[in-house]
Amino acid sequence: MTTGEQPEATLPNRPPRLAAAVLAQTDLVQWLLNCVASVGADPPGITREAFGRGENAAQAQIEEAGQRLGMQASMDAGANLTLRWAAEAPALPPVLIGSHLDSVVQGGNFDGAAGVIAGIAAVAALQAAGLKPKRDIEVLALRCEEAVWFGLGLVGSRCLLGRLPPGALELRHARSGQTLAESIDACGGNAALLRDGKPLRDPRGIGAYLEVHIEQAPQLVEAGQPAAVCLANPGNLRHPFIRISGEEAHTGLPHRFRRDAALAGAEFALELEKLWLDEEAAGRPMAVTIGRFHTPAERHSLTSVSGSFELSLDLRAYSAPHLVALEARLGRIAVEVANRRGVRIELGERSTAAPGPMHPVMVKGLAEASLRAGLAAPKLNSPGSHDANNFAAAGVPTGMLLVRNRNGSHNPYEAMDTNDLVAAVGVLAEWLRINACETGDAR
Ligand SMILES: [Zn+2]
Repeated sequence: MTTGEQPEATLPNRPPRLAAAVLAQTDLVQWLLNCVASVGADPPGITREAFGRGENAAQAQIEEAGQRLGMQASMDAGANLTLRWAAEAPALPPVLIGSHLDSVVQGGNFDGAAGVIAGIAAVAALQAAGLKPKRDIEVLALRCEEAVWFGLGLVGSRCLLGRLPPGALELRHARSGQTLAESIDACGGNAALLRDGKPLRDPRGIGAYLEVHIEQAPQLVEAGQPAAVCLANPGNLRHPFIRISGEEAHTGLPHRFRRDAALAGAEFALELEKLWLDEEAAGRPMAVTIGRFHTPAERHSLTSVSGSFELSLDLRAYSAPHLVALEARLGRIAVEVANRRGVRIELGERSTAAPGPMHPVMVKGLAEASLRAGLAAPKLNSPGSHDANNFAAAGVPTGMLLVRNRNGSHNPYEAMDTNDLVAAVGVLAEWLRINACETGDAR
């Protein structure tokens, strides 16, 4: 570096031809968003059933869009769609850009689909700018990311990377009643090839995985930015059926005699919230969600002290050691509240999912690409888990871009501006130009 040069000044600006080519994809992006909305229309929301009509029809639309760009379509044994823009003489392992096309029931149009469409649009922009890949660039439409269909999420990426839990192929679809194995076969996959638990693709042969996803919190709305570079997706610890047992009693019973399960539930919940706020204040982000919280409806009444109480707990954090520490704290809080209140707290069934930290090199590369694309993209933790978690856990260098979105997600009122998605496509295309295209600029 010569004297006086600032490191930022050494970042070359994005070639203007690629910038123009990205903007020129706005109509394609809008058209594809409209296409997948029409197949999922379920007013006032969108329902694209995994391994059902909605997901299949959206997959067919994306396949057609990819084939128009000369991409080779194939379906793997998990019935995931892959569209490959092949390099003539690939010198490096492929780059995968993935997301999902299914939705929750009465969800929004953008959760998942925006990411698949971003991959198609980035390839279209690179082609329009006259660039050629030096390694294969693949766009993946991964099956059944939403947990509502089988009680298990991220199914497509689990199939691809050999991460289905035992018994998963026998889980039944919430609507069709078919097992996951039957559903995969009915959609053109081959469940028999998934039974040995081996990955369909060796993760060591994947150069990088990139995912664009709407943000499911309003951090980007707050920051006034269209897109962010994701730092990590959370992992979770779940106890779906926590039971508190005390003693039923008459409303006149003095406080010192009570073993009130409802007040124990309230104290337990508030202690968990206190833990959350303390951790956040100490710079350790996490979240506590108590989705179910009730006395038993068949027994509770105005005039009785509740002897039993139930709740669910989803506790999430961004690193595996943090989750381990939080689980120990959870156990201690349960014991302390139970002792103070004279009740029994049984945490019951437990499940976990690994956190998905993004690869530092990918974070750096995407941050530089966003600067070159003229965006001051903040670096944020994602509130949700995504298919990227499985790629990160399999050791694939993984990076994500989050796109500004209003009104949360998993509801009909998700609101993403198409221009914000195009801004993220600009970052993605710039990263691909540097990391996956033959040198030579696109001016
Ligand atoms: Zn999603």
